[in-house]
Amino acid sequence: MNPYWLEEEAAALPRVAHQGRVDVAIVGAGITGCSAALRLAERGLTVRVHDQRGVAEGASGRNGGFALRGGASRYDVARDTYGADQARDLWSWTESALGRMEQLGGDALRRSGSFRLAADEEEREQIRGEYEAMREDGIEAEWVDDLPGRLAGRFEGGILHAGDGALHPARFVRRLAARAAEAGAEIREHERVDDVAGLDADAVVVATDGYGHGLVPELDDTIWPTRGQVIVSEPLDTVLYDRPHYARQGFDYWQQLPDGRVLLGGFRDVSILDELTDVEETTPAIQASLEEFLGELIGAEARVTHRWAGIFGLTQDMLPLVGRVPGRDGLWVAAGYSGHGNVLGFACGELVAEAILGESAAQLELFDPARFV
Ligand SMILES: Cc1cc2nc3c(=O)[nH]c(=O)nc-3n(C[C@H](O)[C@H](O)[C@H](O)COP(=O)(O)OP(=O)(O)OC[C@H]3O[C@@H](n4cnc5c(N)ncnc54)[C@H](O)[C@@H]3O)c2cc1C
Repeated sequence: MNPYWLEEEAAALPRVAHQGRVDVAIVGAGITGCSAALRLAERGLTVRVHDQRGVAEGASGRNGGFALRGGASRYDVARDTYGADQARDLWSWTESALGRMEQLGGDALRRSGSFRLAADEEEREQIRGEYEAMREDGIEAEWVDDLPGRLAGRFEGGILHAGDGALHPARFVRRLAARAAEAGAEIREHERVDDVAGLDADAVVVATDGYGHGLVPELDDTIWPTRGQVIVSEPLDTVLYDRPHYARQGFDYWQQLPDGRVLLGGFRDVSILDELTDVEETTPAIQASLEEFLGELIGAEARVTHRWAGIFGLTQDMLPLVGRVPGRDGLWVAAGYSGHGNVLGFACGELVAEAILGESAAQLELFDPARFV
């Protein structure tokens, strides 16, 4: 396995070492942990981040690079499930987080927009409902019937989300980690935490998303490790896709990268139960489906140069858990983005940091871990 994003060399982090007890220890140096560390360190708290791997080497460096507003559910479904005000607030809250990511990210984030496509008539009905709900609530979205280029004839229209972005996730998170270290956070890579109670800190944040199974047993039935698989082609001479695209309820997602390669992920539904695992391995069945679809997307055979798997945390209501772990003094969690954690993870890192600082926010109620634990 060779995750494309992680091939870029990581610059050395500013060295910070705190002596003894810190205000906050964070487990996980992905987008959530680094975002929380930055916010806490900026506010003057002493912070130590621990990761069993290097920065961004979990899902944060293995994902599709889609920087989407909103939650993991369709907007109309979110509105029916969580309530109209909550859904609207959630979307606008992630919009402002994406704006902050753009300021921090430099060339790691392009505001390219994204395309949510209907693979058939049934999906067209569904996402038409989503589009209408968004327009009713004043959220920017554009319906497109005349699809451009290779999409025409293959998909039944779609929603153009002009505000979304395409992220180089590893580059972004490594920059975030560097910012956090510059602000005073100590980042300890390649250091596994086996017992959160053993960390020398007043508060502990578990930011392990799909990788943390077993660390806080109360969360094991709530955040289900789920595998996603990705392939990347050799560079193409022509630009076929100018923004991230996704279809079949997000089961298929692809984007063409600035160097001309096509990244394609998904097809989890080929063997959906097998993918409820934290075994970070590709499988022949899903890889074959990805390769076949890649050929269709490109209209020719292209050599696959990169393939990998990553693990994300799925929850029953597709919302993350952010806040105190019930019954555990000083233990906090921010995880469970249900495959939608690039913008949401960044925002929830800030959110958990602010909660530790004693600030309240509407999202803390929506994401309260006590709804499950
Ligand atoms: C294949 C795939 C495609 C995806 N595509 C997208 C996408 O396009 N857009 C999107 O928004 N989201 C996507 N996601 C989801 C997104 O990647 C995640 O939600 C997000 O990266 C979670 O970030 P995180 O920091 O919370 O967790 P992670 O980045 O997974 O980091 C958790 C860290 O915790 C560390 N850790 C775990 N246990 C311990 C321990 N005991 N001790 C020390 N360290 C520990 C791990 O090493 C890891 O580095 C995708 C996920 C996958 C797997």
